[in-house]
Amino acid sequence: MKYHSTNNHNLTASLKEAVLKGLAEDGGLFMPEKIHALPEGFFESIGRLSFAEIAVAVAHHLFDEDLPPADVEAITRDAISFDVPLVHIHDNIYTLELFHGPTFAFKDVGARFMARLLGYFTHDVDKTVHVLVATSGDTGSAVANGFWKVPGIHVHILFPRGLVSPLQEKQFTTLGENITALSVDGTFDDCQRLVKTAFLDNTLNHKMILTSANSINLARLLPQSFYYFNGFARMNEPGKDLYISVPSGNFGNLTAGMMAGAMGLPVKQYITATNINDIVPKYLDSGTYTPAPSKATIANAMDVGDPSNFVRIFDMFGHSHEQIAEAVHGYRYTDRQIKEIIKEVYHGHGYLLDPHSATGYRSLYEEIHGTDDAAGFFIATAHPAKFHETVEEVIGEKVEIPPTLQETMARDSEVVELTKEYSDFQGYLLDWD
Ligand SMILES: *Cc1c(COP(=O)(O)O)cnc(C)c1O
Repeated sequence: MKYHSTNNHNLTASLKEAVLKGLAEDGGLFMPEKIHALPEGFFESIGRLSFAEIAVAVAHHLFDEDLPPADVEAITRDAISFDVPLVHIHDNIYTLELFHGPTFAFKDVGARFMARLLGYFTHDVDKTVHVLVATSGDTGSAVANGFWKVPGIHVHILFPRGLVSPLQEKQFTTLGENITALSVDGTFDDCQRLVKTAFLDNTLNHKMILTSANSINLARLLPQSFYYFNGFARMNEPGKDLYISVPSGNFGNLTAGMMAGAMGLPVKQYITATNINDIVPKYLDSGTYTPAPSKATIANAMDVGDPSNFVRIFDMFGHSHEQIAEAVHGYRYTDRQIKEIIKEVYHGHGYLLDPHSATGYRSLYEEIHGTDDAAGFFIATAHPAKFHETVEEVIGEKVEIPPTLQETMARDSEVVELTKEYSDFQGYLLDWD
């Protein structure tokens, strides 16, 4: 399959080129030239397939033109090492729990797949491949764990100092080996700008091989479509229209869900929920897309003021506001509302939400509560224990921390400190051997 730049459909790349570059030369993001539908037979038998089997089938559909099918299968099976269960909350509302991977958040799926695909594409390169990643929290831990000890690859993780949770920070500052954490005196948007500037910097690109692991990289984005099919397969609500809600920040997860739709997944309505960083809900309402500086919230992995993947949704719909607003309904929640949702769902239904997933629950509820002809799931993007300080304060009870998270908390951190000036980051990279 060929991939084009969102800035220029004539600028195309192979899968390998797109994965190694991350961003197209013209600053656009790569998109599949054409997304083909899966065969009807796939949807007829999907209920009998496990999540890993579904992932392998979708991976064959996406990648068999570019890699030997046996390698596609091996990479996918190795990446999909945990389940993604569908859990019933109440009435017609379900959640797809994406937090059973090594770092307890949905980004494990894309990060594990990308680490293996990039390792595959670079095993014959004799220079180190440098992965640059900006994180507002969960990307850093998922990418660090996905790439940890992958030979030939060094990962540099930029995070906004003091703006990620202590536990998230431990998950990517304590690994060592081929993982370096860079603490930036700025916001997530500053970190993202530093990374984007580095990719377009000729001096650096002459000296070293740089690639991204943010959700802008296709190798992270495409495998995220796998679990939407699993949600559909596990849901037993015959005759009802399917609604899917996605808590969003950079909008990679929603983009992948919409790609699943383009591959034939019968989705009646996509819903997206944000915190007060509501650029996209505002755009859906008004047709005006205005990035703004990000504001800190208790759902900090969604504190994004300039969502990098939304250009892919513009691309899929030929920039038509009318079509996009029809396909996606948007909701936004304040910190106070998020806390109320967590409390209500815990006490009313015995289900504990993390602050991100809470927005997904509520937006789905607002769309389909009380209807007979609709059922849906929201993506639970993180385990509540990852945000236990907030969650404990809200429900007034201790949250049980899984043992592997406790071990991570006890380890020592190591970070390199940077200002938000590009010259500082460039100097750090140029000094690299
Ligand atoms: C990254 C993240 C999000 C946002 O996902 P995007 O793909 O960036 O929209 C939501 N919740 C959690 C817990 C995350 O880590």
